Amino acid sequence: MLVSTAMTSSRVVVIGSGPCGSMAAWQLVQSGVPVTMLESGSKRPEGLLLRALGRNIYRKKPDGNFGSDCATHRASGDPKTKWYYDLSLGGLSNHWTGAVPRFAPEDFTEGRRLHEAYEWPVTYDELVPYYERTERLMGIVASGHDVPNLPGGYADDRRELPDDWQRVADTAASMGQGLTTLPIADGPRNLVAPRGTAFNSYTSLVEPLLGSAMFSLKQGAHALRLEWSGAKRRVTGVVYRDAADGLEHRLEGDAFIVAGGPLQTTRLLFDSVSSDFPQGLGNSRDVLGRYLHDHPREWWVLEVKKPMSRLSPSIYLTRRAYDDAEPLFATSWTLGAPNTREKLMSFTPFKATEFGVQVFGTMIPTRDTRVTLIPGSQDESGSSLLDIAIRFDGPSMQNLEAAQGRLLELMDAAGVPSTIQPVPPDQVTPGSAVHYGGTARMHRSPEYGVIDGHSRLFDASNVIVADAASFTTGAEKNPTLTAMALAARACERLAGDLRSGQA
Ligand SMILES: Cc1cc2nc3c(=O)[nH]c(=O)nc-3n(C[C@H](O)[C@H](O)[C@H](O)COP(=O)(O)OP(=O)(O)OC[C@H]3O[C@@H](n4cnc5c(N)ncnc54)[C@H](O)[C@@H]3O)c2cc1C
Repeated sequence: MLVSTAMTSSRVVVIGSGPCGSMAAWQLVQSGVPVTMLESGSKRPEGLLLRALGRNIYRKKPDGNFGSDCATHRASGDPKTKWYYDLSLGGLSNHWTGAVPRFAPEDFTEGRRLHEAYEWPVTYDELVPYYERTERLMGIVASGHDVPNLPGGYADDRRELPDDWQRVADTAASMGQGLTTLPIADGPRNLVAPRGTAFNSYTSLVEPLLGSAMFSLKQGAHALRLEWSGAKRRVTGVVYRDAADGLEHRLEGDAFIVAGGPLQTTRLLFDSVSSDFPQGLGNSRDVLGRYLHDHPREWWVLEVKKPMSRLSPSIYLTRRAYDDAEPLFATSWTLGAPNTREKLMSFTPFKATEFGVQVFGTMIPTRDTRVTLIPGSQDESGSSLLDIAIRFDGPSMQNLEAAQGRLLELMDAAGVPSTIQPVPPDQVTPGSAVHYGGTARMHRSPEYGVIDGHSRLFDASNVIVADAASFTTGAEKNPTLTAMALAARACERLAGDLRSGQA
């Protein structure tokens, strides 16, 4: 049975309360547009975070019972492919680290050296106001300075590198790279929070909206498909399953923001079939699901021969200069404490000889790295199961492995000879970075993209993709801040279009 609810006051439906859906809802309400948010989960953020004098003293994240190795998908590329998601209020922001580097201007353009398919339809300058708007909501600790290949953003709490690391930063700059405080959404210097992360999109953005007459939240409402009206040439409703009664309901709206996380968003679009779009909404040119990308990720320990200051917060070494690298190949390095004991020792003035290093590499997304639906399948929520076809190829792995030598070269040049401890094996698995993107990508041309430069489906301009499914390419930087900024930009434009009757 399908229960139908016409929109009375709310005009835009936002699907998902993770960082991207929450930012979209926040922007729409700020712009005077009523919003109904559908969220599959109903579990509130859990955990405990104690922070004093600008350092996390204790952090208990919610149970690691999120995502899956294979129950919700088939891996037809690398068999170890993982897909993490959390159908909860706040989504994966219940678990995340909170690293929020901006993309650099070149990240939006360098792909064109390879092919026009890899150039974004939006520039860094166009995104700057939305980066800053987002950063002001996140409680960011950072240096705030520009360094090579990483623009400095807005920071509530500005932190400089320790002096000995600043000398390494000077050498890095002479090699075309930046070394700076990792921009991180760590919140105020002192904090006691009943959740695992300082910034949680539900508590930070959605909860404050609950008091507004412009906003309503339906929890336990899992969106199953968008409904296309051939007569009106637009999407007119969304069908969702309500956990409270187990029934399918239909909600109407003037526009729909899809922000379920990159792969959830993609399967919702695939599941939204109609006679006009038999292969899924947004898929009239067979681009939906393609160009999947992720960050090959590796962690190892750098051992320095002479003790260096402990790092809290962590620090970030930016990618090599764009002109020195093959297009779309880059790595970033995050250096911090390698274990809990070292984290505790960072409260003392003593120096350390071991630092944990997390490296994110890149891959070139192609039409063959993709997700598709498994025909006739269904999970417990009523959505189709996904086949994920991704594998890190030779050039991606070589790029990742070269990161070890590059860091040693830098440390040596800076007068801090170092070695790398044996690297833990079998780490590099698609999905383990939790940075999938690209499967409903933005592009100037529908030949290469599912959405336009304002994140609207080419097939249905009143539907916006507001998460990292929208990414044209996957720079080596953590994706969430950029995805949120794109969501804010798209929603501000949508609000204007709704006011002028153009949406
Ligand atoms: C341990 C860990 C550390 C991380 N660290 C970082 C980091 O430092 N920096 C960074 O940039 N990123 C990091 N990430 C990734 C980051 O958490 C995600 O990029 C981010 O949460 C994505 O936001 P989102 O809104 O697109 O999706 P999600 O956070 O996945 O939220 C999606 C929401 O939509 C809901 N939903 C999904 N499908 C439906 C549906 N059909 N109907 C209704 N609701 C639906 C879900 O319940 C969820 O609430 C980390 C992730 C993990 C797991």
